[in-house]
Amino acid sequence: MIAVLTVSAGADAHKRATIAITFDDLPALTLLRDQRYVTYLNTMILRGLKRHHIPATGFVNESKLDELDRSQQIAVLQHWLDASMDLGNHTFSHESPNTLGPADYIADIVRGEPVTRGLLAQRHRTIGWFRHPYLETGAPIAVKREIDDWLHAHGYRIAPVTIDADDWEFAEPYDDAIARHDERRRTHIRRAYLEHSAETVRWYRAAAHALFGRDIAYVMLLHATRLNADCIDDIAALLKSEKLRPVSLTKAMTDPAYRTKDPYAGKDGIEWLERWSIELHKSLPWDSYSEVPKDIVADYDRVDPDR
Ligand SMILES: [Zn+2]
Repeated sequence: MIAVLTVSAGADAHKRATIAITFDDLPALTLLRDQRYVTYLNTMILRGLKRHHIPATGFVNESKLDELDRSQQIAVLQHWLDASMDLGNHTFSHESPNTLGPADYIADIVRGEPVTRGLLAQRHRTIGWFRHPYLETGAPIAVKREIDDWLHAHGYRIAPVTIDADDWEFAEPYDDAIARHDERRRTHIRRAYLEHSAETVRWYRAAAHALFGRDIAYVMLLHATRLNADCIDDIAALLKSEKLRPVSLTKAMTDPAYRTKDPYAGKDGIEWLERWSIELHKSLPWDSYSEVPKDIVADYDRVDPDR
């Protein structure tokens, strides 16, 4: 028995580390309220994912369906399923449990699922993943438990995040640069984003090693944005150069690391390695953490003052 375990551990050590890619705020997170822009960016993301054999899960805010052409917004979601991707619930209105309180937050989850659930049912599939907006999971602990218990009782699993490259902060200035035909700014934002993503992926890998002494099966948070549509080949290249093999969210979540308890019940939306560092009483390598460049933060605040 011991010999068998040794052999299997040895084989595992030679496997490439894996990563599941997730996209929040479907049909799209964009400054530009333009259906063609939204449809185009999703088409390009999906083509890129297919080209690079990357499975992905998209998290839907159904309130966005009525912000533009409802039937075309639903067609975007269908396109995701036609491309063999999965869809999950990201609440109806993208409000925080800290703002709504547990009862209204749960009502917002229920309101966020009928279209997605229906599209999955047409393909004999069920909705199983939930992602908290802003990664805010409920505070204090009683509120968090109430939400967790409801999700569990209704067949949802929380989709954690173990790589967060702050893509949203680059994405809105990028939309604005496109709207203003400012090619220089657009190129600058894109380069800064890719550089930040590479640094961030490496930081999260160091953080996983600090907690578990190994790579985990990572879950990366991205958003359905024009920036990611334009950078999809570069993101695929980053995964390749980091030797991270793309897998589905379901597959990534079989990593035993995801059985670690999440004891955090504060108001801030923090990712899961930070939550687990509390549970495991280990510190993360914050000294080497790379912040979003100051000029990007300023650019974001200029185009979207409601941070
Ligand atoms: Zn979101």
